[in-house]
Amino acid sequence: MNNRPFILKGNINIQDPDQYIIGKIIKNKNVEEKESYIQVLDNKNINLYQKGYKGYIFEKKPQNIELDRINYCYEIENYETLLNYDVVEIINNKNIRVLYRDDSEDNAIVVTNQCNSNCIMCPDADSIRNTKENPSIKKILEHIRCIPDDTEHITITGGEPGILKENLITILKECKEYLPNTDFLLLSNGRVFSNTEFVDKIKENIPLNTRIAIPVYSDSEKIHDEIIRVKGGFKQTIVGIKKLLERDIDVEIRIVVLKKNYNYLENIAKFIVKEIPKVKMVNIMALEMTGNAYKNREKVWIGFEKVSKNIHQACLILLKAGIITNLYNFPLCNINQSLFSIAHKSITDYKIKYKEECNKCKVKEKCGGFFNSTINVKDIKVKPII
Ligand code: SF4
Repeated sequence: MNNRPFILKGNINIQDPDQYIIGKIIKNKNVEEKESYIQVLDNKNINLYQKGYKGYIFEKKPQNIELDRINYCYEIENYETLLNYDVVEIINNKNIRVLYRDDSEDNAIVVTNQCNSNCIMCPDADSIRNTKENPSIKKILEHIRCIPDDTEHITITGGEPGILKENLITILKECKEYLPNTDFLLLSNGRVFSNTEFVDKIKENIPLNTRIAIPVYSDSEKIHDEIIRVKGGFKQTIVGIKKLLERDIDVEIRIVVLKKNYNYLENIAKFIVKEIPKVKMVNIMALEMTGNAYKNREKVWIGFEKVSKNIHQACLILLKAGIITNLYNFPLCNINQSLFSIAHKSITDYKIKYKEECNKCKVKEKCGGFFNSTINVKDIKVKPII
């Protein structure tokens, strides 16, 4: 089910002294381990009510159930969109937040909003990254324990997860223990891995199927540091990547293409081949024009048509060196046709935009379009393939 709401509002009554509960959804039936589930009952199935669940979501306020000692919600808008094994956080007097969607392959655990860099094209705004309302480690661990252990993929993201230091280790340990069959993608700017003691602890505790995705914006220290707005950041990132590779931890390099680096994509590719050839893959990505990227749009935006040739050259260098290379977030009509097989439909469904002309394009089904935020910055030129 696409476009399910992440926030549901209604009447919420939580008894917990922390004023929240996190649990798994079970709809109109009963399960054994009630204490980790939230039972959802519509009016027709109210007779299935049993004591012992962590919480309840009722269609209407029930008349014949003693409500004094339970956590319960009722008259929740869109409550029918919840699915079995979704994970939700119910916040007293506020709302229900969907933390994990059981029908999605794109679930993430956001471990912090804060970051030790301040990239000019960060899709988050400063206000989000500076918020003090980060999820507590207790909540993150509860969230992890509720995720079904047959989940194929989870992304761990921030902000910068690395700034949690010991807490990141605890999170990774929990993932390793509770989700041994899951593939993890950890998004990081890589700077914290320049610390040998920390990277050793990461090696010890990271789930086996984890790849760490780290951006390299330039082969030049000056340009990379200007983009992340931290002096010395480039050195830390490259040292961090090398330390991870030395410990056989999979690393994916991300190159986000923007005005400051699009002319140097070939150089970045050559740098990767020479300095860090053991990386698992390189993903070249188009900007998402929200947050800082939107604020700094004059400095960062570069038209797809201008970057096409440089992307082609960079891909050839990487592919010739045997490095798996992918393109993300680029409309197909703006890249060389020989690269179609490595271009992915990567934009989350509710963020995708196509133009009217796209309807006559014969590759629309395969094309990922572009971010809806991009259209707010520039009127994208598309060239339907017919
Ligand atoms: S015309 Fe539209 S659908 Fe076709 S490749 Fe371009 S963006 Fe994609």
